[in-house]
Amino acid sequence: MQFSEIKGQEQAIHILHRAIETRHIAHAYLFTGPEGVGKKKTALALAQYLNCTNKADGIIQSCGVCPSCVQAQSGSQPDIIVLEPDGNSIKIEQIRTLLAKVTLRNYDSTYKVILINDAHLMTEQAANCLLKTLEEPTENTVFLLITSQMQNLPITILSRCQQIQFQSLSPALIQELLQKLYPAQQSRIGLIAALAGGSMHTAEELLANEELSQARQDFYQLLAKLNTMRPAQIIAWCEQWEKNKKMARTLLELGQIWYHDVLLTVMHSDSRLLVNQDYLAELRTQQLAAEHVLNILQYFRTGMEQLEYNASPRLVMEVALLKTQILISK
Ligand SMILES: [Zn+2]
Repeated sequence: MQFSEIKGQEQAIHILHRAIETRHIAHAYLFTGPEGVGKKKTALALAQYLNCTNKADGIIQSCGVCPSCVQAQSGSQPDIIVLEPDGNSIKIEQIRTLLAKVTLRNYDSTYKVILINDAHLMTEQAANCLLKTLEEPTENTVFLLITSQMQNLPITILSRCQQIQFQSLSPALIQELLQKLYPAQQSRIGLIAALAGGSMHTAEELLANEELSQARQDFYQLLAKLNTMRPAQIIAWCEQWEKNKKMARTLLELGQIWYHDVLLTVMHSDSRLLVNQDYLAELRTQQLAAEHVLNILQYFRTGMEQLEYNASPRLVMEVALLKTQILISK
């Protein structure tokens, strides 16, 4: 893994590059930020770089061909240790085994790099066990703790690590990355990028989610003819989401994306700006006043807030859709 392969994290990588240039590598870093934005890739790139035996002058890039780089790329560099949760937690036995390896002499490498993924899943005992080592750093050993839930790490661990914040990825960048990875899925990529909340992890999950594709299709068919529907039909359709808060939230987001597209359509914007490229014909039939569309967007936003307060998903969907229907049927 090379730093140049990581997209959208210029600030985090800049901090690491400065540390390398000034030879002030901290003995423990905490990479924080949303899931699926490149934290682990960056940790692997740093680990590979630190152990590369053939570093070029002037640029911070590992050579990719020295024995250490080759081993790092295949995940078999003995001085780069990656610890993943065992089931739902990182247990004290795992940390003990890990620390036993840390105290062994380095093989041929300059650095021993220990990467702990989802560090917030350490049990209290595991965290305490690790803490002792963090308090007495060994020379040329670097701990890289990775987490998307920093608030769940003990403050004692946080205070021993230099924090590096990773950003959410922009929808445009997610779209670009998805286009490279999944060219066959072209028609859905714009939508997925808009729904992914800045995370490639979420984007790939959504792309693989057949249930979501079907729900989106049903929902958009309903929205396309909402003005001709009877309230009883809308209420009946909403029943299926009673126990599915996650899908209700996604549908409310999809509703906002739909009406945002409607807004762009009624304002005669460039149709290439629309997210739902596969529904252009249906969107063009939605002849609504812009002020009404803005109200509808607010209904969906309010619905999402109510879900956060544990309102019934069915009821929230009903209210948003019935209010919309009343407004557009006037
Ligand atoms: Zn190398």
